Amino acid sequence: MRLHVGVPLWVNQDSASKRRRYPALRGATAADVAVIGGGMTGAGIAYVFAEAGVNVVVLESKHVGGGSTAASTALLMQETDEDLRALDKRYGRARAERIWHLGRTGVRDLVATMRQLRVPCDLAMRDSVHFTTDQRRVDDLHAEYRRRRDAGLATMWLDASSLRAGTGIDGEGAIRTRGNAQVDPHRGCIGLLRAAARRRARIFERSAAHRIDASGEGVVIHTRGGIVSAGRVIIATGYATPAFAPLVGRFQMKHTYVLATRPLRAHERRAVGLGDVLLLDTREPYHYARWTGDRRLLLGGEDRPVLPPSRRRHAFTVSRARLRDYYVKLLPALHEIDIEYAWEGLFARTADGLPFIGPHRRYPRHLFALGYGGNGMTFGFLAARLLLDTFLERGNEEDLELFAFGRFRKKAISCRSR
Ligand SMILES: Cc1cc2nc3c(=O)[nH]c(=O)nc-3n(C[C@H](O)[C@H](O)[C@H](O)COP(=O)(O)OP(=O)(O)OC[C@H]3O[C@@H](n4cnc5c(N)ncnc54)[C@H](O)[C@@H]3O)c2cc1C
Repeated sequence: MRLHVGVPLWVNQDSASKRRRYPALRGATAADVAVIGGGMTGAGIAYVFAEAGVNVVVLESKHVGGGSTAASTALLMQETDEDLRALDKRYGRARAERIWHLGRTGVRDLVATMRQLRVPCDLAMRDSVHFTTDQRRVDDLHAEYRRRRDAGLATMWLDASSLRAGTGIDGEGAIRTRGNAQVDPHRGCIGLLRAAARRRARIFERSAAHRIDASGEGVVIHTRGGIVSAGRVIIATGYATPAFAPLVGRFQMKHTYVLATRPLRAHERRAVGLGDVLLLDTREPYHYARWTGDRRLLLGGEDRPVLPPSRRRHAFTVSRARLRDYYVKLLPALHEIDIEYAWEGLFARTADGLPFIGPHRRYPRHLFALGYGGNGMTFGFLAARLLLDTFLERGNEEDLELFAFGRFRKKAISCRSR
């Protein structure tokens, strides 16, 4: 499946000629761990494992960072796709809070790692503002705020006038949460892979894994030009590809749309009125916006279930017009501002909006890190840490259970409180 349509801003700005290309795999090689997929998740896994001294090979079917990662708007959010209250209802208080705590840890960890490695990727800390313009939703949003506050999250309530002052939006109220961030996902991914390569990870592009044979001792992965023998394979392909047919039904594929304006001058930014925050509404499907390092406004949303390829282009045209209309109503000064980029990307959502991280009983010697919904930057990196713990047998079963394939079957699972 094509993972995006239209040229995302990041790909255009970080032209292929400026970055190192990795070779295709030729012949036979061996590793402790083979990672399938060279997006943000595969990059995080390659770095974290190589940093721990594990011998890693990454196989990417096309070019690294060119899948959903290239299309991402890369808000690094501790907030999960489902609110804390919704996760409470599903899994109980302790598990829901633990999941949110892990989200916060994931953002902190990714930010600290990028900073320590000095990855040039426009990384910046940002508060999120989750707002509503609908009077009927205010009580619910306020209840969510109280739930987050009681869980110890760094959050505050914005009434209509504070919302207006901070965002330029005429709304009813909002939750402002500290500790989130934003990044250029393409450069972030390339930077993590470079850091992994400096720690002896071997990365291969144009090397699709066509077949994986697993036995008690390990796996043998076949590409067109070579084979990798490894103790374990980690599947970081974003969602279950047809090679994992029994798992495909676990994922709902969605199209999502993004616009990027031209860079705005200071007086234009003042007229728009939106501060340096990550903006999200409470609609279904939701909308979100943020500034880029070069002062463009990224406007995203209008998700819809996956369409047949023949209808994808038309849906792209319709959805980007809808997206623009929505934002012009919300922030009227955008009426004057040209849109320079528009693109559409695919992402995979699970039934509870949380990823699948860990083993699956059908697939020996495999580990998976798939299906992040709108939260792959944060949870992809968290997956890298959790999977390293698993690989090194460092006993993180309670956290892994939160993201296990079997979690929908288990009603009551114990969870340590924070
Ligand atoms: C428009 C858009 C906006 C988004 N915004 C956000 C956001 O603001 N914040 C956030 O956290 N997340 C966001 N997401 C989600 C996030 O971008 C993804 O969850 C994340 O990029 C997934 O990274 P990945 O490495 O798992 O997958 P990908 O980046 O898709 O990488 C998977 C790679 O696997 C490769 N591959 C597939 N099959 C094989 C094979 N057989 N052999 C070898 N390689 C293979 C593919 O070529 C691909 O490069 C957004 C997604 C989209 C589309």
